[in-house]
Amino acid sequence: MHSVEAFRDLQSEAIGWRRYLHQNPELDYRLHNTARFVTEKLASFGINHIETGIAETGIVALIQGEGGEGATIGLRADMDALPILEASNKPWSSTLPGKMHACGHDGHTAMLLGAAKYLAKMRNFNGSVALIFQPAEEGALGGQRMVQEGIMERFSISQVFGMHNAPGMDVGTFSICDGPILASLDEFDLIVKGRGGHAAKPNETIDPVVIAAQIISGLQTLVSRYTNPLDALVISITKLNAAQAYNIIPDLVEMGGTVRTLVPSLRDFAERHILALAQGIARGFGGDADLNYRRHDPVTFNHTDETNLAIAAARKLVGPASVNDKMRPRMGSEDFAYMLEARPGAFIYVGNGSSAGLHNPAYDFNDEALPYGIGYWVSLVQTVLAA
Ligand SMILES: [Zn+2]
Ligand SMILES: [Zn+2]
Repeated sequence: MHSVEAFRDLQSEAIGWRRYLHQNPELDYRLHNTARFVTEKLASFGINHIETGIAETGIVALIQGEGGEGATIGLRADMDALPILEASNKPWSSTLPGKMHACGHDGHTAMLLGAAKYLAKMRNFNGSVALIFQPAEEGALGGQRMVQEGIMERFSISQVFGMHNAPGMDVGTFSICDGPILASLDEFDLIVKGRGGHAAKPNETIDPVVIAAQIISGLQTLVSRYTNPLDALVISITKLNAAQAYNIIPDLVEMGGTVRTLVPSLRDFAERHILALAQGIARGFGGDADLNYRRHDPVTFNHTDETNLAIAAARKLVGPASVNDKMRPRMGSEDFAYMLEARPGAFIYVGNGSSAGLHNPAYDFNDEALPYGIGYWVSLVQTVLAA
């Protein structure tokens, strides 16, 4: 239907937008300049239904097709940067030390803007497209807040689609799978309580460091011995804090970690069993343990019908050989998962070439991926809302 060549003119313009956003990164919900920039561009494309200030700095804009009655589908881009000191050495590097677009959300925003410009001009589809520009994807639950503030109902969105760039995947290729594509994300703090004292008299203490060591090893058996080996689960201890001296056995050891899984019921399992196992071990040694378990992103779950629509749209753009429709899920997470809980939809990866990895100070979004991302959005709209 469309070759990517149809989007080359838009690419040159989108490169300008992308590099401007890259030079001016903003964090979490504080995307005031970014939101202003996006809103101005949308208005300049002749889009007159633009709502700003959703989840503080989020935006939803509606483009009506001229094909006739039809559904409204949501296309989502995230806009926030990360608290990282950039080391990409690109001429368009961040001008704000300690803030950086290291996850390519500058590219995601530019791609959705490119599609907006094209769709607002052509309007050759039924129904409407809701462009969702989201703040605070990086750990601050902007996607959840936009859903809580009612965007699905207010804009009558019936299906929702997302896209992320993937370093290490060739430019011009797409990857997706039906069902879980990204893991849920939970965090926990675990306090191991003992009784401190002089390091030379361990027999007069209950050493929480030795207890913590047993707990750390024990927790790995929750994955290896208590769950089905075919069900993906990661439990990692990533923080460890004890005494600050060589000659003191501390009263407490503070541990922190993360739980990732593709199986939603394993979140309940993890919360229950981390506490039971830590308390069991600690009490066996005369100590005790407390757990604070916090749930963040759910499993990012692709729905079958919408996944098939996404595959069809990508194939029309780049051909079947460049679309991997059996991608292995990843154990990272995405707050687009909240939108997929609210409405059926699909999340797809677009190749970013051999760039540095996401969240790496040397990372940069690949501008060669822009016409593919723009083309995918356009192809998706023309597939789902065929006039
Ligand atoms: Zn990220
Ligand atoms: Zn990201």
